Amino acid sequence: MSTRAERLIGKLDGAGVDLMMVTNLVNVRYLTGYTGTNGLALIGPNTRVFLTDFRYTEQADEEVVPEFDRVTVAQNLVTEVFEYLPQGTLNVGYESESTTVDALERTREAFPERAELVAVKGLVENMRLVKDEHEIELIAAASRIADDALEALLEGGIEGRTERELALMLEHDMRLRGASAPSFASIVAAGPHGALPHATPGDVRIERGQLVVFDWGALSGGYCSDCTRTVAVGEPGSEAREVYELVLGAQQVGLDEVRAGGNAKAIDKAVRDIIYGAGHEGHYGHGLGHGVGLEIHEAPTLSVRSDDTLQAGTVVTVEPGVYIPGKLGVRIEDLVVVTDDGVRILTSIPKALRIVD
Ligand code: ZN
Ligand code: ZN
Repeated sequence: MSTRAERLIGKLDGAGVDLMMVTNLVNVRYLTGYTGTNGLALIGPNTRVFLTDFRYTEQADEEVVPEFDRVTVAQNLVTEVFEYLPQGTLNVGYESESTTVDALERTREAFPERAELVAVKGLVENMRLVKDEHEIELIAAASRIADDALEALLEGGIEGRTERELALMLEHDMRLRGASAPSFASIVAAGPHGALPHATPGDVRIERGQLVVFDWGALSGGYCSDCTRTVAVGEPGSEAREVYELVLGAQQVGLDEVRAGGNAKAIDKAVRDIIYGAGHEGHYGHGLGHGVGLEIHEAPTLSVRSDDTLQAGTVVTVEPGVYIPGKLGVRIEDLVVVTDDGVRILTSIPKALRIVD
């Protein structure tokens, strides 16, 4: 089996470069195993060099896969990397989406004239799209941690607690269960607050009769999970129940449509049509889902603007919602692995409307 660096080398020709200078730390981690915060990988047919500074020499020795030569240089890696270029005239790719103008200028100043810097987009990101079994297991493990934390929280009762308190309890519990951090800032949004898709948890007490939206995830083994559940604290009333059932049905249609070869835009539309058709045009403004992996938002995108075709082994969310300003919000999100004939759902929490105390 070829290594990730070897797979990248197979893509260099297509990108029009002889070597790739990888500086996006998520991509560096993917290719080399390094988890620190200052590292650079220079990769070409006869070049595998990993650069870091003194603070990370030992960590790099432990983490970086053995095919790379590991070197310790001064802290500013981009001004040192030229030393490790092979001979000859070279086109060296840099990651234009994550390189600052300043870093690019400094690299260019240090480079010899025979080496040209070429902007490259999405090369490693595209490799990250399809997950291997080990990556899927890490995402599934992160998902289990998050699920268990919410179950424990709901069992303890949430009425009378504040959104902020609940968010902190979730995050604390996930860390006790082995997460290194939450995978993003948790959303706990009660009642009318739930109508803000990206609400920040506030000092708002959860009241009886409200819907509460939880959108949270764990970071574990470097991989993210992402899930949303909306629960009711006591009886939420008929309008809330109606909206909940609508979103639940629409989400199920989304899950039914996702499979390898699926058109991301068409899947988004199938779900959107149901919600808009029920009179909620204007109450659902975000995309249906997104890829999840080393980052909480990565390719592909399921939305009206997406050109993506889904591939087996991709991990995506399916998360429609309805947001009625001043009243309530409902979002239901599962994390799934795309398979040849459908999905493998990683989220384990049931979705029938749950009434809690
Ligand atoms: Zn989410
Ligand atoms: Zn999400």
